[in-house]
Amino acid sequence: MPKRVIILGSTGSIGRSALEVAAAISDEVRVVGLAAGRAWRKLAEQATRWRVEAVALADDACGGQLRRACPPGTRVFTGAEGLVELVKTCEADFVLAAIVGAAGLPATLAAVERGLDVGLANKESLVVAGSILMPLAQQRGVSVLPVDSEHSAIFQALQGGRREDVRCIYLTASGGPFRTWPRKRIEQATVEEALRHPTWSMGPKITIDSATMMNKALEVIEARHLFGVDIDRIKVLIHPESIVHSMVEFCDGSTIAQLGTPDMRTPIQYALTYPRRLPGLAQPLSWDSRCSLNFEPPDFERFPALRLGYEAARRGGTCGAVLSAANEAAVARFRAGEIPFGRVVELVEQALNRHQYIARPTLQELLAADAWARQEAGECIRV
Ligand code: NAD
Ligand code: MG
Repeated sequence: MPKRVIILGSTGSIGRSALEVAAAISDEVRVVGLAAGRAWRKLAEQATRWRVEAVALADDACGGQLRRACPPGTRVFTGAEGLVELVKTCEADFVLAAIVGAAGLPATLAAVERGLDVGLANKESLVVAGSILMPLAQQRGVSVLPVDSEHSAIFQALQGGRREDVRCIYLTASGGPFRTWPRKRIEQATVEEALRHPTWSMGPKITIDSATMMNKALEVIEARHLFGVDIDRIKVLIHPESIVHSMVEFCDGSTIAQLGTPDMRTPIQYALTYPRRLPGLAQPLSWDSRCSLNFEPPDFERFPALRLGYEAARRGGTCGAVLSAANEAAVARFRAGEIPFGRVVELVEQALNRHQYIARPTLQELLAADAWARQEAGECIRV
């Protein structure tokens, strides 16, 4: 029986790659549900191609257009609640969570609540509410399989030893487009420059996050929630080639890494077929010609987002929600040309400093912290 899969965020970069994987392993995977934010045309096109049972669109206003464009018999849900409804009612075994931002949280929670295994690309939902999501997954017997390439690598490397024998985790980072730039120049970077990632092709929000290195800050928190490893054992390492996707060092001094070309179809497929491995779509590495792999420690001065990530991970509580939400708002403002690049991380820091910290927040308190931070970073004095 093929695995029945719902893809949340199917029109995005991860969602489209996931559909390519699903097409390549169609004996294993049947796509039964799709969801997106606003791209109703693309969603209807995907619904037609995949003959899915149901679709959901977060944007209510385009519901009518989506309904008319979908094949007859397709169930169509709209609005933010529509996504949750899709997850709750569609006959499925697995949910690929690939919506960008905290907007993905309710549907991811609904999947876990319902006992469906989750392939998690939507790191923001863990950063905001990992303290709720992971215990719930454990309680429901749900597997949360990482799709983020670094976390997929760590997940794979961890299979090489016992958890109690892990000395530390090395999260690798390409360093983004500004890896070698001086701080002053980084602060003035344009949107176009920030969107030019050297090794990965991804959606715009995560690409900007890679330029500030907030993406790695989010990933440190993500790793902490996924693997339950002490924050002092999670290290970031700059690796410009993006070949070593991350590594685990064990107490005997052995380091186990996962390597591959930078292609998200590999970790997406692994999450879908785990624990099996099937022939993949990515070009395998070629060792025929001379090559070198470089590593260097990160620069916390030029990339202050990293420091904020560690601080937020250490303090826990509402900090992840505030960091992630303030960042979403600040990135949106930068992309809209409202603030310079250097201001993005400053706004996140301000929100973290000003927020009402709660050590053991409920889901409602996390959502309130998220809403507050969005407002704070969105409405700070215009620059
Ligand atoms: P993207 O912008 O390309 O796609 C985002 C998807 O989410 C689209 O389908 C969009 O319609 C949908 N969406 C946006 N707002 C929504 C809302 N309010 N409600 C419902 N759906 C909404 O983003 P992406 O690059 O595919 O990233 C998706 C997630 O995966 C992010 O959390 C990102 O951090 C993570 N991720 C991406 C990559 C990558 O290579 N792109 C790698 C690792 C992790
Ligand atoms: Mg990543």
